[in-house]
Amino acid sequence: MYNSKYQKDYYQKHKQEKIDYAKKWRNKNKSLRKIKDKNYRNRQLTNQEMQNFYSIINSIKSPKCWIWNHSLVHGYGLFMGKSAHRVSYELYKGSIPKNMVVMHTCDNPSCVNPEHLEIGTQSENIADMIKKGRQSKGESKPTAKLTEKQVLEIRAKFKPRKYTYEMLSKEYGLAVRNICKIIARESWKHI
Ligand SMILES: [Zn+2]
Repeated sequence: MYNSKYQKDYYQKHKQEKIDYAKKWRNKNKSLRKIKDKNYRNRQLTNQEMQNFYSIINSIKSPKCWIWNHSLVHGYGLFMGKSAHRVSYELYKGSIPKNMVVMHTCDNPSCVNPEHLEIGTQSENIADMIKKGRQSKGESKPTAKLTEKQVLEIRAKFKPRKYTYEMLSKEYGLAVRNICKIIARESWKHI
């Protein structure tokens, strides 16, 4: 089957790589399923998990932002299927009331320093954003990277049905399908 030993080794190495890749992919899917599962996302952490969280925190503590250096989704830290910054808020500052969001005062999504985390309603955050002049001015940004405030803004604008998907798509320079995903909470579901 093989012309030389070299060829045999080569194929075997490749076979192993393929198996490893499939394994990695399966694990990734598994963790993504956990994020989608609301019960898993909102569950109480076990003591062991809390200890793991604190030991991660101890390795990244700094006088400024504590940058989460483990898994990230959209730039937000992820811990056991939960948003790392929300876990940090709950452990250091207390529980998050229902329908409230945890925002970054430092505008750094991967930061988990409780001093930089603030609780707010969606409308407060939108008002804050408009005050700070960070509202999108409607220019077309084909490679726009959304901030969490913009995502909340898109959802809030769509809710009273005054804005259509197309209008939002034009305003934020995003494809209509991406706007749909944001509104349906298929993307950015952690905020
Ligand atoms: Zn920060």
